[in-house]
Amino acid sequence: MNLLLFGPPGVGKGTQGQRLARELGVAHLAMGDLLREAVRQGTEAGKKAKAYMEAGELVPDELVVRMIEDKIRNVSGFLLDGFPRNVPQAEALDAMLDRLGLRLDAIIFMDASEETLLQRLSGRLICRACGFGFHRHYSPPKISGVCDHCGGELYQREDDREEVIAGRLRVYREQTTPLLSYYSKRPVFGKVDANGAPDEVYEKLLEVVKQADG
Ligand code: AMP
Repeated sequence: MNLLLFGPPGVGKGTQGQRLARELGVAHLAMGDLLREAVRQGTEAGKKAKAYMEAGELVPDELVVRMIEDKIRNVSGFLLDGFPRNVPQAEALDAMLDRLGLRLDAIIFMDASEETLLQRLSGRLICRACGFGFHRHYSPPKISGVCDHCGGELYQREDDREEVIAGRLRVYREQTTPLLSYYSKRPVFGKVDANGAPDEVYEKLLEVVKQADG
């Protein structure tokens, strides 16, 4: 199966995408994670992407399209999270899938209120070692600053600081929301209300995947 999850920052694409990809046995291709890894490794792509990411702006299309194609070519079955983020990227994805003889089996839009997004983003903590996500208030680690799963150090993403969050939500509204009209007429399109607790949202996602697939 090939799936696409899209929606605003903080809606839970990463948390849900990771779980869903594991359950379906497909690769979780999270654009933000791929970019952060490139930055960490100091690759050419990472060097180019760094400043855009810290400012909460989109990295140039050409760079992200190249990175994602590289991944898609090397997996069998994927869940895209955080790509595409604007219409030109969606067009590039369609062209790429055509070339590779692949198609999307489900396209899911996740949405939540701005209040929910702000609360989730500003309290988010991530493990430096395994990438697992926690929240200061909603799902705190057992020991402050330490990952429950691997003992790694928890940190707040540079772009989860309040002054950057507002800009990321603006970028989302201006550049990513047009994807709704780009995708919403397709038979495999579905929408999930992601305001609830993680397990509740996950159940809704599974339903939509089943419907799209059936
Ligand atoms: P995320 O982890 O999905 O919140 O992404 C973190 C940052 O990576 C974003 O704020 C952008 O700077 C960059 N990024 C992630 N996905 C894309 C994309 N599809 N196009 C351009 N930039 C992206």
